[in-house]
Amino acid sequence: MNGIPEVKMLDGAQGVSRSIGTEKNVISRKGENSFSWKGGRVIDGYGYALLYNPDNGQASNYTKLHIIMAEKVLGKKLPVGVVVHHSDENRLHNENSNFVICENQGYHNLLHKRMRAIEAGGANMVRCPICKEHDIPENLYIRSNGQGYHRRCHAKVECVRKRIMRAKKCHL
Ligand SMILES: [Zn+2]
Ligand SMILES: [Zn+2]
Repeated sequence: MNGIPEVKMLDGAQGVSRSIGTEKNVISRKGENSFSWKGGRVIDGYGYALLYNPDNGQASNYTKLHIIMAEKVLGKKLPVGVVVHHSDENRLHNENSNFVICENQGYHNLLHKRMRAIEAGGANMVRCPICKEHDIPENLYIRSNGQGYHRRCHAKVECVRKRIMRAKKCHL
């Protein structure tokens, strides 16, 4: 028992709907072989590769490929809440070396935040959630939780909010 259910894959499927329930289009593979399979694949709305896996105990008959692979590496089911991150952010690049297993979505978000910051010029850059630009902490108002924003951006938002709330004149 390696924790991996028998994995069924769609044969050359371009779309999910065309292949669901047509057993003759479904091939069955097990273990290692399944992961080297390069044939047609099913991709979900978020860009993740899916495997036809009707015995997964989920509402959907499909399981994300990277989840199956990560569980194979771990040798057990991923704990609830755990998120598998693709290091190069290519959701179709499913290799063990490309996975970072995050204990929860919060950590996963942090990872993405740091990646954005590094791209923008440095790991300590902070992204203003209002104008969505990165800036050095000195230019931002940093809150105790580490989030920060430009004062002028915040003022603008506050102004709009107040204008809506009270229908007052805005001077910004
Ligand atoms: Zn990620
Ligand atoms: Zn800003």
